[in-house]
Amino acid sequence: MNGFYAIAIDGPSGAGKSTQAKRLAKEFSFIYVDTGAIYRTLGLACWRAGIDRKDAAAVMELLKTLDISIRYNAEGEQRMYLNGEDVSAEIRQPEISICASDVSSLQEVRSFLLDMQRKFARENNVVMDGRDIGTVVLPDAELKIFLTASAEARARRRLLDLKEKGIEEPFEDVLRDINYRDEQDSRRAAAPLRMAEDAVLVDSSDIGFEETFAILCELVIRRLAVSEV
Ligand code: C5P
Repeated sequence: MNGFYAIAIDGPSGAGKSTQAKRLAKEFSFIYVDTGAIYRTLGLACWRAGIDRKDAAAVMELLKTLDISIRYNAEGEQRMYLNGEDVSAEIRQPEISICASDVSSLQEVRSFLLDMQRKFARENNVVMDGRDIGTVVLPDAELKIFLTASAEARARRRLLDLKEKGIEEPFEDVLRDINYRDEQDSRRAAAPLRMAEDAVLVDSSDIGFEETFAILCELVIRRLAVSEV
């Protein structure tokens, strides 16, 4: 431990990681870091530039010219900036999810973005969510949670999330995108999605948000010996 606590939450797309992690961070006064948003920001930049997202050399060339930064607003919410522009809403578009998954398969990209993620954990108590936080980014995290749910349960929830943001998508399309990302995120050679050996598995397919949250709080209290604020 470096003087700060780290909670790593990994799992497939749509398992509720970000909602749970955000609430957990608030509950224990930690900083929430959504690492998927970094890949999404790069995905958006590639999309805008019309770059082949599987061409590592082209993506890296672009990445080195970009200024990608994470900032927190007055409410403590994470915002993503691309060359000074707040792109937090735009990166949530379904087509950008696919772009993010594509660029995140590139090892060069992952290595380049590693320190940006670790820096937060060096300087704060963090709840960080992603796909490889417990395995690669923060292998020494005090608590590692692998949060999962069936693809159908995740697609149903994603549909509701998108609806709230005013984005209408057919269920089949959402499920197809989830399956595409599951497949790509699990099979890639670079930091594939897998549960760390010392992670706790939480399957939320058949339990609601509050019940899942209660399980996570219990784990934090037990493992970190901290209390809610
Ligand atoms: O978590 P979110 O769905 O926003 O992530 C977008 C994409 O970024 C994922 O599909 C995944 O491919 C990638 N990602 C990753 N490693 C992380 C976080 C996200 O590869 N730590």
